[in-house]
Amino acid sequence: MNPFRMFLFPILLLVFTGGGIYAQGRIATPLSAAGFSKLTSNKEICSFIRQCDTLSHLVTASFYPLENGLEIPVVSISRPENKERCLRILFIAQQHGNEPAGMEAMLNLIAAFAADGDHEILNGIELMVIPQCNPWGGDHHRRRNKEGTDLNRDHLLIRAGETAIIQSVFRTFNPEMTVDFHEYYPYGSAWEEFGYRRDFDIQLGGLTNLNTSDEFQRLFKSYALPFVKNHLDRHGFSFFEYTLGDFPAGERLRHSTVDINDGRQSFGITGTFSLIVEGRNGKDSLYHLEKDRKANTRQRWHCFSLPRYTGIRSGKKWRVSVTRINNPLQVLH
Ligand SMILES: [Zn+2]
Repeated sequence: MNPFRMFLFPILLLVFTGGGIYAQGRIATPLSAAGFSKLTSNKEICSFIRQCDTLSHLVTASFYPLENGLEIPVVSISRPENKERCLRILFIAQQHGNEPAGMEAMLNLIAAFAADGDHEILNGIELMVIPQCNPWGGDHHRRRNKEGTDLNRDHLLIRAGETAIIQSVFRTFNPEMTVDFHEYYPYGSAWEEFGYRRDFDIQLGGLTNLNTSDEFQRLFKSYALPFVKNHLDRHGFSFFEYTLGDFPAGERLRHSTVDINDGRQSFGITGTFSLIVEGRNGKDSLYHLEKDRKANTRQRWHCFSLPRYTGIRSGKKWRVSVTRINNPLQVLH
C-alpha cells in the first residue's frame, strides 16, 4: 500500500464542528422537518437517504435487508471524479438503538453533502456512513437488537446479522479511520455522592486494547483529544476523554472497555485509527426532544454535524501524516 497523508484535524472538525453552520442547509432531515418532535424511524431514514442519493452524485446508497424486515442503509460520500485513492473514513452510528443522536447527526451530514453539490474536503477523503446499525432497536428505543444481542459486544463472534453487515462494510471499504457514535447515561446519584460530576456534553474515546498501535494511542492523546477539547470549548460544549467504571463502588475507572469484541477495538486491531464518541444522553431516547427543545437541542445535534471545513480552507497546517504499510503503523508528523 502506498503511503498517504491523513488529514486528521479537518476530519475531526467534520465530526465535531457545529455551531449552527449547517442550520442554513437546504435539505431538511426528517427530524428537522418534524420540528424536532419525533425521532426518525428506519423507514423514514431509508426513504430520506434514497432522496439524497437521487439528488447528488456525491451520495450513493446501498440497503442491506435484515431478517426482521428492516434495512441497514450504507451511504458512500465521495467524488467519483477523484483519480487518486483518498483517505477512507467510516462513520457508524446507533449500534445501540436507544442512542439516536449519532444517527440523526449522520442524516444531517448526508443532507449537507447532498445539498451543497461539492465539498473541498472530498478531494482528500472518502466517507462511508452507516447511520443506523440497529434499525429494530432504533424503532423500539432498545439498546439491543430484536434477538437480544448487544451489537457492540458482538464484533468477535459476529452472531447478529447487523454486526455481520458492519464488519462486511468495514472489510470491503478498508478505512484508515473509523468513528463510532454512541450516547452515555449521566444520571444516577453514585458519582455525585462521591463528589464527582460526570455530565460532559461529549466524551471521546480512542483505542485501548493492548493489541492496537501505540502510535495511534499516542496520536489520540497528543493530538485528537486536545484538538477536540479546544474546539468544543470554543463552541460552549463540555468535553472529557471517555471515562467510565463504577468508581464510587471501588471499581476500576477506565477509558472504555479494552475488549476486542466492540466495534472500535475490532477495527483498531486491524490497523485502523478508531474513535468512539459518547454524547450525553437523556433519561430516555426522547428526553432531549421533550425537555431540552427550548435549550440547546439543535446545537446538540449539530455538535456532531457538518462544518464548512474551515481547517482546510484557511490553510492551517494541522495535518498529521500517517503511513500504513501493513502493520505496524507509522505515524509521521
Ligand atoms: Zn452505546
